[in-house]
Amino acid sequence: MIVADALRDAAQRLQPVSDTARLDAELLMAHALGASRSDMLLRHMRDPAPEGFGALTDRRARHEPVAYILGHQEFYGRNFEVGPAVLIPRADSETIVEAALEACPAPRRVLDCGVGSGALLVTVLVERPDAEGVGIDRSEDALEIARRNAAAHECRAQMIRRDWHEPGWTADLGRFDLILANPPYVEDDAPLDPNVRDWEPAGALFAGADGLADYRVLIPQLPALLAPGGVAVLEIGATQAEAVAAIGAGAGFETILRADLAGRPRAVIMRLGLG
Ligand code: GLN
Repeated sequence: MIVADALRDAAQRLQPVSDTARLDAELLMAHALGASRSDMLLRHMRDPAPEGFGALTDRRARHEPVAYILGHQEFYGRNFEVGPAVLIPRADSETIVEAALEACPAPRRVLDCGVGSGALLVTVLVERPDAEGVGIDRSEDALEIARRNAAAHECRAQMIRRDWHEPGWTADLGRFDLILANPPYVEDDAPLDPNVRDWEPAGALFAGADGLADYRVLIPQLPALLAPGGVAVLEIGATQAEAVAAIGAGAGFETILRADLAGRPRAVIMRLGLG
């Protein structure tokens, strides 16, 4: 079978699994060919379909995300290693980067709470090469991926194992001009797509019955980590703006919201009030 026909068959087969079945098939085919997608479309459509393509399509048909199959995902125009230990960076989270760079244009020290793949922290550090970063995560497997992404993008970041549920986790971290976090915020019983629910790390997604459990623990601990004039930028779910702002107010924060590309509230920008 030639590439063009194998692509058509695979796109059809992946229809029930994916909203982007044709694109998924093309990305997997390009991967199997060892070519870029544009190269494949321009030059390889009449070549024999490569041996490995069927196995890749089988994996996608079992809902495994394309990013895990390929082992990488683009975020903010750069490539990041990903694997099942980390959440796949979403385009919506680019809002967090934009909000952070705007709210804190020249950070010296940046902390990412729940660093995962490192996509948020590394992107900010690449955009602001004078800054240095600390990424914390409770998953050692995630930290290894984050370290490789920091090294690949040549930024100064330390990735250390910490869990904000454990007392004393902030002890020796020092203070930061900018704190980033995309904590778990999905309700435990939310009806998630099987592509997410069956493959992405539960520990990075779920946060109690109302999805607010991690904000309740994390936000009150942030003032002690902020340098004077510092700012915290957190990702939120579309319906959580008011609740998270209230948690922030309880910790002394004033909150500004920022919407994502779809116009839904996505980032909360928190600064300590003067009063
Ligand atoms: N935005 C992610 C999702 O909807 C959730 C990310 C998170 O919990 N931090 O799958």
